Parts: sequence; structure tokens; C-alpha cells
Amino acid sequence: SPNLGAPIVLPQSHKQRVSNPGRAFVRNALLSHLAAMDVDAGVSDSENGFFVADVGEVYRQHLRWKRNLPRVEPFYAVKCNPDPQVVRLLASLGTGFDCASKAEIQQVLSLGVPENKIIYANPCKAASHIKFAANNGVRMMTFDNADELHKIKRLYPGASLLLRILTDDSKSLCQLGLKFGAPLDTTLPLLKLAKELELDIVGVSFHVGSGSWDPSAFVDAVERARCVFDEAASVGYDLKLLDVGGGFGHDNFETIAAVLGPAIDQHFPSTIRVIAEPGRYYVANAFTLAVNIIARRTVANQEGEAGLADKSYMYYVSDGVYGSFNCILFDHQHPVPRVLAHDGRFLYNEARGDSSVRCSVWGPTCDSLDCISEESFLPYALDVGDWLYFEEMGAYTGCAASRFNGFPISRVQYVNSEKGAEEMMKALSA
Ligand code: PLP
Repeated sequence: SPNLGAPIVLPQSHKQRVSNPGRAFVRNALLSHLAAMDVDAGVSDSENGFFVADVGEVYRQHLRWKRNLPRVEPFYAVKCNPDPQVVRLLASLGTGFDCASKAEIQQVLSLGVPENKIIYANPCKAASHIKFAANNGVRMMTFDNADELHKIKRLYPGASLLLRILTDDSKSLCQLGLKFGAPLDTTLPLLKLAKELELDIVGVSFHVGSGSWDPSAFVDAVERARCVFDEAASVGYDLKLLDVGGGFGHDNFETIAAVLGPAIDQHFPSTIRVIAEPGRYYVANAFTLAVNIIARRTVANQEGEAGLADKSYMYYVSDGVYGSFNCILFDHQHPVPRVLAHDGRFLYNEARGDSSVRCSVWGPTCDSLDCISEESFLPYALDVGDWLYFEEMGAYTGCAASRFNGFPISRVQYVNSEKGAEEMMKALSA
């Protein structure tokens, strides 16, 4: 496997630019990709949706993490978006990785990432995947129940285990506690059982829920983790690792960091290694999705509907809920349509203007569940062949897309709005 070399040293000059979302690069990429297409000619592929991925945005998020949570090592949650360029970039920046399965571990190992930079953070694992981790020296893994402990004893007794505890995830988009996490009244018996089985417990992990909007959930979880560290000490374990999981948003990151960092410092001495498993935080903003209007249905508005033109439109577009927009069902997202191109004109910048034409937006399949937006207002009445775009489409989108009804999965075009970072470019072309 290729040698990734030393982690990239982050240039100081970029610190001032974290808020720059690199829109110009995304716009130019959308434009040049559209220019290369000839939808009218009905050429194969020319109506397919496509992502523009700005790897520079991922890079900026990394700088932002380092600045706000310097004590916490990010282990990127591959499941969120296993895009090969994103994963390669993060590997070259020296992040670790949270993998959920054998295939994700394989993907990361194939880039030359050291085994100790990988955590197999799925509390309920398939036997063959545990074996794969064992055969490849990936020791860190989570568990949250007695059955899993017995399985690990049988398949990988030398694993370094983290006990995943249940936290309050009621203020998050995707509550993971329904499925995972040991309630605090079970942690002591689990630790005792692990001791009996002579297993190596090295730490505690938690996940406050994906898309968490309550920073105090992190503080509460850190306090719970402290209790479990103390319980472990009473059983004879000297825990050294705290894993604060994922759940960080790109819009509330500073607010979370401002309470999480001090909570960690208050409850855990500097000898304790702290890692996290951010997914959404790194990629949500980095991917923009463009879709083509492949069909349109005109609907007469009710007479007297205030402020509306006399017609509304149903737009049928080239990607949908069974594809990249699965995030609507699985991740509770609400993607917002904006006009990208109308009547051969590129309208990326104007599209945020006055919006009075009512529409709904639908995916391309024959299923009525395949609805992207039940009601939106756009500045133009669009036609077949026009384009819409959706921002913030990087998290839990393409990775769970299917080919239902035979529609292709939207491909990715890459741009880099951090041109100065030469090392990053090298890493990407390696
Ligand atoms: N870690 C684990 C174990 C997860 O299950 C998830 C998401 O489901 C993540 C990390 C990433 O979470 P997020 O994208 O909210 O940061």
C-alpha cells in the first residue's frame, strides 16, 4: 500500500479563511460541467444529476476542528460519505477513521492508514468482520452488551475494547440510542464480565445522536463517561481512551466545542487520549448536487391564492429519494431546491432572489413516495432541460443511494477551493 508520509502541516495563513465556503469554485465547476452537456441532443448521461465536491471545504473543516478542539483527535466516520477522494484527503491530513464494517476497514487500510488510526465502531459486528479486523491488526472496537463480549472473546480476545454507553440523544436528528449504547445500570456488570473473560477494556465511547442540536448533551455524556471510568477502576481497569463519537454539525460546531472541550478537561486528565468520530461535520457542506428537470407537469392554481401566479409546476428531476435524496427518509434532511440554469442561462447567483412561482419537486422513479419537496417557491417557471441545485448534500446521501427503477447514481466532479495547499493536491492525485 502507498506510504502516506508524515501528516500535512496546516498552513497558518488558512486560519482566517475558514468561513469562506469556496462558492466560486463550486459555481465554476457546475457551469463548466453543464457547458459540456447537450441535454437537448438526448445524449446518454447528459440528463444525469451530478455532485460537485469541493475538497477544499473538507480541508477547511479540518483546520476548524484543530483550532476549536485541539485535544480531540478526529476519526472520520467513513459511513457518512466514503467518497475515495475525501477519505484519501483526510488520510493525508492525518485523521483517524471510524469504520463500521470490513469493507470500510479495507478501504482505509488500502490507503496505507496505520491500523492504530482505525476504530471499528460498530457495537454489534458480524463474526467474519471481527476476524478480518483481527487478521489485519485493527484492535480498537466498541461493544455494548454481554453477547458481543462473548463473541469477541471467541474471535479476537486480544482486541482493545471501548464500552459504548447510552446517552441522552433526544435532541438530535437521528437517535442512535434506540439501537446502541449500554444503559448506566448495565455498565458495571459488563465491566465485571469483561474482567472475568480476561478481555482488555481500554476506554469508553458514546454518540449523542447524529445532527445533535443540544451542546449540553455532550457535557452530560462526558460526565456519564467519567462515572464509567471510575466503575472500571473499581473492577481493576485503568482506562486510557475516551471516544466522544459524532453528532457535530457544521453550523453549531463552535458552540459544541466551547462546552465539550472544557468538560473533557474538567473530568479527564491530560493523560487520557480523546478521540471523536465526526462524519457530517466534515462533508455536509462540501457537496452540491445538480439535477436536471426531465419532465414537468403544469397545475392550475386555485383562484385567488394570494401572491401566486396562476400556475404551479411539478418538476420531475434526474435524482430522487431512492438515489442521493435518500437523506430525506433516512437522515430527516430537508434539501432546498435552487435554480441553476433556466432557458440556457446560468442563474446560480440570481437564484436566491424573489421567489413567487410555486412548485413541487419529484424524483424520477414511478413511486409517489419519491418526493424531494412538496412545496417550494422559485423565481422562475422552469422548463424541461433546466437545472436545479441543492447545497449541503455531502452527508448520508450518495453512500446510501440505490439504482431503483434503473436510474443511475449521480457521479461526483471534484474541485478544490484551497489552491494554496499543494500537499493536499499531491495527496489527491496520488
Ligand atoms: N460514529 C458512529 C458509531 C455512528 O453510528 C455515526 C453515525 O451514525 C457516526 C459516528 C457519525 O455521526 P455524525 O455524522 O453525526 O458525526
